[in-house]
Amino acid sequence: MARYIFVTGGVVSSLGKGLSSASLGYLLKSRGYKVKIRKLDPYLNIDPGTMNPFEHGEVFVTDDGAETDLDLGHYERFIDINLTSLDNVTTGKIYSQILEKERSGKYLGNTVQVIPHVTNQIKDFIKAKTSGYDFIICEIGGTVGDIESLPFLEAIRQFSNDIGKDKSLFVHLTLVPYLKSSEEIKTKPTQHSVKELRSLGIQPDIIVCRSEITLPKGQRKKISLFCNVNIENVIQTVDVKTIYEAPISFYKEKFDYQVLKHFNIKNKKQPNLKPWYRTKNIILNSKKEVNIFVVGKYVDLKDAYKSIDEALIHGGLANSIKVNLNKIDSEKLKKNQIKNKLKNADGILIPGGFGKRGTEGKIQCIKFARENKIPFFGICFGMQLSLIEFARNVLKLRNANSTELNKNCIPVIGLIEEWYKDGMLKKGDLKKLGGTMRLGSYECNLNEKSMVKKIYKSKKIYERHRHRYEVNIAYKNKFESKGLIFSGLSNNNKLTEIIELNSHPWFVGVQFHPEFKSRPLSPHPLFASFIKAAKNKK
Ligand code: GLN
Repeated sequence: MARYIFVTGGVVSSLGKGLSSASLGYLLKSRGYKVKIRKLDPYLNIDPGTMNPFEHGEVFVTDDGAETDLDLGHYERFIDINLTSLDNVTTGKIYSQILEKERSGKYLGNTVQVIPHVTNQIKDFIKAKTSGYDFIICEIGGTVGDIESLPFLEAIRQFSNDIGKDKSLFVHLTLVPYLKSSEEIKTKPTQHSVKELRSLGIQPDIIVCRSEITLPKGQRKKISLFCNVNIENVIQTVDVKTIYEAPISFYKEKFDYQVLKHFNIKNKKQPNLKPWYRTKNIILNSKKEVNIFVVGKYVDLKDAYKSIDEALIHGGLANSIKVNLNKIDSEKLKKNQIKNKLKNADGILIPGGFGKRGTEGKIQCIKFARENKIPFFGICFGMQLSLIEFARNVLKLRNANSTELNKNCIPVIGLIEEWYKDGMLKKGDLKKLGGTMRLGSYECNLNEKSMVKKIYKSKKIYERHRHRYEVNIAYKNKFESKGLIFSGLSNNNKLTEIIELNSHPWFVGVQFHPEFKSRPLSPHPLFASFIKAAKNKK
């Protein structure tokens, strides 16, 4: 039977619960176990799909098209597994399922209550489709003490009681602050957080202490004593220089070993840490580096382009080179500043985006990259804008645009419904239409003679999507006559997936989000190739 590991957080948010859970997942998987990992988010949105990146960072998209919390990106990247819509739930989703059942009379006239109905719904989510797995790691979002978290904490308490203590484990991650003025490490916040957790009926088995400096023995003893946890289960996690050091550091602290010990499992297989050492080395010690400029709207928020940042670094790993990430706010960018701002760019990337704000700045940067032969990577909106730029400045269609930005334009980008109206698509041409967004994994066929086929080393690829608008295929011939090739198309040849420019060292636009499939230990081929081109430009 599967064993369940519940990870909660205390004292403050943003302590790296996702990274800790993902690292533990890697260590267990590498020791030969089958690991599943899930995130339970206490907020009321049904999913983060409609949330502003400023609120919540990037929206991570799974193969099956779920719009999920960015922690799922950490999980996929570290554990190298593909997650699904069953691996992220929010209070909003739980309640909407309950209300649907209530309206259809499924509760047979009973009063619907937080206990047992909400908690049962959460418990059903935790155990859905987990057969065959050795470990299920469930991370509870938020911080202990939040009102929103209560039903989740109650549910995991009950869950542990249902399946037995020997099949469940509670990990609590807290902050152990260091006070510079008195040069002291303080354990009191941890004590309080554990007290709060215990008042809800949860005694943590392992406490992971996030700290700036190494935890002295005395402090560990104190936490052990006051929090009622064996001293070996007080695990420290000292700030690391790169997140790729986390699996190494947790292994050294015996996190995975203590987890196995709790479950009474003897395991002789050691996790493979070699790739993480290599990764860490390149990032921290590489003398060679490339400067990549990401031009977007949400550059002030660290996590808004999380997967892109990561994928670029992975591209660097594939080329044994350090990638310096530079962010430019496209809204604040003035036309006359572009040359100066981008003068050190070895590569320019325009990420996904929605809405008009900041688009003209992005278009100017694309023009600069195209004309100056700087490696250019356009992702989703970035690809759409690269077509708009080319249409305006090369095809001389001055009013070219996306109907998302201007309804009365020459629509090189537009909505599929518009294609149906114009008779360019017939009913049944596209299967998964329905919703307003094209979400999740779709097939794409690569043109035999294209550069992308050489990069992917395959004729058929699958990539994840998240967009409403599509390239207007009616303009394909016009673009191609000027050397902009539609090198990846959907099965029915109606939807443009990839474009590339012949007369340029590396100019690629993709309608999908390759960043979601890049992993540190298996970098995405497009990112690897983009960084290689940037390296060659130097
Ligand atoms: N706004 C564009 C669309 O909806 C691009 C979306 C994106 O970049 N994810 O098609």
